[in-house]
Parts: sequence; C-alpha cells; structure tokens
Amino acid sequence: MAHAKAVLVLENFIAGKFVPCSSYIDSYNPSTGDIYCRVPDSGKEEVEAAVKAAKNAFPIWSSKSPLERSQILNKLADLIEHDLEEFAQAESKDQGKTITFARTVDIPRAVYNFRFFASSILHHTTECTEMATMGCVHYTSRTPVGVAGLISPWNLPLYLLTWKIAPAIACGNTVVAKPSEMTSVTAWMMCKLLEKAGVPHGVVNVVFGMGTKAGEALVCHPDVPLISFTGSTLTAQRIMEKSAPHCKRLSLELGGKNPAIIFDDADLAQCIPTTLRSSFANQGEICLCTSRIFVQRGIYSDFLKRFVAEAKKWKVGNPSDPTVDIGALISKEHLEKVRSYVKKAQAEGARVLCGEGVDPLALPAGNRKGYFMLPTVITEVKDESCCMQEEIFGPVTCIVAFDTEEEVIERANSVKYGLAATVWSSNVGRVHRVAKRLQSGLVWTNCWLVRDLNLPFGGMKASGVGREGAKDSYEFFTEVKTITIKH
Ligand code: NAD
Repeated sequence: MAHAKAVLVLENFIAGKFVPCSSYIDSYNPSTGDIYCRVPDSGKEEVEAAVKAAKNAFPIWSSKSPLERSQILNKLADLIEHDLEEFAQAESKDQGKTITFARTVDIPRAVYNFRFFASSILHHTTECTEMATMGCVHYTSRTPVGVAGLISPWNLPLYLLTWKIAPAIACGNTVVAKPSEMTSVTAWMMCKLLEKAGVPHGVVNVVFGMGTKAGEALVCHPDVPLISFTGSTLTAQRIMEKSAPHCKRLSLELGGKNPAIIFDDADLAQCIPTTLRSSFANQGEICLCTSRIFVQRGIYSDFLKRFVAEAKKWKVGNPSDPTVDIGALISKEHLEKVRSYVKKAQAEGARVLCGEGVDPLALPAGNRKGYFMLPTVITEVKDESCCMQEEIFGPVTCIVAFDTEEEVIERANSVKYGLAATVWSSNVGRVHRVAKRLQSGLVWTNCWLVRDLNLPFGGMKASGVGREGAKDSYEFFTEVKTITIKH
C-alpha cells in the first residue's frame, strides 16, 4: 500500500522557522502513482501568521541598499547551485519531468533567476525632466510596495516560483509564497537555505496548500497589496474577482494555445527538431509549448511524414533514466483530461497519426501505475475543434495546412489566447510582417524558448495581464512617485 512507504512531510516556513500544520494533503510521485510527500493544508490562520511575519520584516529589509540585497540573492543562488543535483532529483520525482530537464532547465534557471535580479537591481535608473521656464525639475523615485503574494503552478515549480521571489525581494518587498499543492518539495528545500544565505527571518515566507484555501486566503488578505500569479486563465479570473474589493495590483501569467507557422522556405533541418521540442518538452506541460502547427501546403506532406517519424522516436518512461525524453504527466486527472482531447478529436473525424491509442506504450515494471502518455500528433482537424481552441497542456500537437500569409495570420489569431508564437521562414521581410501582426506576447522566429530575461515576458488576450522581466518586474514590485522641486 502506498501509505506504508516512508513519506516526506513538509512544513510551512514562517518568520524563519518551519511550522507544522494541523492537516495535510497527499502529494504523488507521478511516475509511480505512490504518495511522495504530505503537504500542509494551510488556510486563513497560516496565511495570517505568514503575512504578519512578512509585515514585521518589511521595515528592515526595505531599508537595506540594493547592493546588500543583491549580495544575499547571489549567496542564495550559490547555495541552490551547490545542491543542484538534489534539487533536480526532487523536482523530477515531484513533478514527473525527466531528470535531464530538471538538471538542465528547471534548477539552473532557478539559480539564474536569483543571479539575474541580484545584478539587474543594481542598474536601474529613474527618470528626470526639467521645466526651465517654471524653474522646476521633476524626478521619479521608486520604493518597494510591501508584502507581495506569490502564487505559482506545478509545471516548472522552482523555476517559476523563483522568477517571482527574486525580483520581489530584490526590490525590497517581503513575500508570502504559495507553490502548487502538487509540487511543493523544492520550495520547501529552498527555505532550508534562506538563513545561510543571509535572508532575514520573515522576508520569505512559504505557505503550502490548496489554491481555493491557502491561495484564496492570500489573495483576500487586506495587508497584501500585490499578487503575482502564474497559472490557468480560469484561476486568474477568480483571483481578479476576489482581489477587486481591495484594488490589488495584479500580474497574471496564464495559459496559451501557441501556433507555429512554417512557411515553405523554412529550414526544415532546424525547424523539425525544434518544433518537436516546442510540442513535447516537459511532456508538453509548458505554457509556451506549441499545440497548433500550421504548415504551408507545398511542404505539408513532407513535413508531416518527417515530424511523425521523429515523434515516434521520443522515449517515454522512467523520468530518472537519463535516456528518457518524456516523463510522467502531473496527475491521474490531468492525464485523463489530456487523453479525452484525443478522443474528442477522433470523434470529430480527425486523424491521430501517432501516440495515444495508436502506438503501444511499454513502461518499466515500476512505472506501470504512473501517468504516462506517448507524444501524439493529430491532423485533419478543424480550426474550431476544441483541440485547436483549448489549452490541452500535454504531449499533443495538431498539424494543419495553410496556403497564404494572410490566411495563416488570421487562423493563428483565431483563439482566445495570445502567449507565444513561432514563425519559420528564411524571408526576413515576411518574418517581420508576420511577427508584427500576430496577437502574441512573444514571437520566436526560427527558434523557440530563447529568452533574454531583460525583455518583457507575458501574454495578450486571455494569456495574461502585465509582463515580467528586468524592467517590468521592477516596475511591478515597486511603487513610483513623481517629485517636483522648484528652485
Ligand atoms: P492553476 O491555475 O490550477 O494553479 C496555479 C496556482 O494557483 C496553484 O498554486 C494553485 O494552488 C493556485 N490556485 C488555484 N486556485 C486558486 C484560487 N482560487 N485562488 C488563489 N490561488 C489559487 O494552474 P496549474 O494547473 O497549476 O498550472 C497550469 C496552468 O498554468 C496552465 O494554464 C499554464 O498555461 C499556466 N502557466 C502559465 C505560465 C505563463 O508564464 N504564462 C507559465 C506556466 C504555467
């Protein structure tokens, strides 16, 4: 029985101390179906204590110089990097992602998030204007806001949580963070390093638990003036409603239904492997993953044949095996949901060319109760189909043909989301034209997932409100004031 195994028991981290909770939630290892850990089922009381600790820590932390805060962030980055392998193992076990992905993407990026904001906080300048005729100068001053509520999802647990914690504390705020109840372990491990890094007690508090309980208590707390949230569009709508009475400042990074547009002059030798990655990396559980591939008719059949042949080579299995490309999906419910989209597509007359229901999935004995799925390619699917409109968030991608530039722009834009798009073409003029007209916060041409953290990250339409990045996060996590001096 799953319970018979020794399981990890997590505790909330409040005012620099680990604090037990009166009730707990089971969290599973998606690759075995066993219980991996027990997560505090926090509610109002725990959130209240965490907010109080963050409020108490604010005067001292906010009065430190950017350089002092920067040194502490760098130290924390070093400590996480020192334990990189331990963090990667835990992330893979908790989330189902491959150990290779956790080692090369998740944890290095978490380390880099702290290093990046430790550096960028030292280089901001504020504005100044002169009104000679009035004998005035105007300048702006920025100050930290207060206690920031940070809520993150399960797909890139430590990566996305630190993408919020780092800028928030670099700017001098104190925080109460709530990671996803399904992937809490690496946040808990990070808390163990805070004191050694020199983060004063109460600057970073972490409450674990359900979104509807702990998350909502944080969103509704009157002493938390800003909420930075990454997750689904549906949850964001609820957060907007709940925070409206307090007029909170919100940053919302949400779902996507990202197109890849492949013109007939694309370099397929680069495009095919990159589009496979953009469709299936991290089990397709990245908000930036491609799930609608539009291929110009002249190269459509060739592309389809080559793409499917390569997709069939992706190895699905035990995430701790370094030769595996796709690990387990986050939960049994999520796996069912992703599979149900494939069934719906078939019922509508679409064709499944490989993967779910078409090819056999052989798993090692220890992983047969895990939540695995083969990379799945669907074609002959209508643009109105739910598979082309809704975020599936799994290893499923749809491939369809198009004829003209005008047509494909319209079809790519015909969804409620607007997060990321990919354009493949060797025609520079076309690349600029198309990129400009796509309703998408990010457009990658002839590449995918290449990020400069200095520049804005975020989505349009139902994919988000606000942007994150060096300048954008600085603006979000600080309050600006315009001061006028007459001489
Ligand atoms: P989710 O919205 O279910 O949960 C996200 C977080 O919000 C979790 O910590 C959850 O506990 C909490 N939460 C849930 N209900 C809440 C409530 N009522 N009040 C406050 N907090 C609440 O999302 P998920 O399933 O964890 O993550 C997958 C989604 O996240 C996908 O839609 C994906 O596209 C999106 N995502 C977006 C980005 C981005 O940067 N745009 C990045 C990663 C994931």
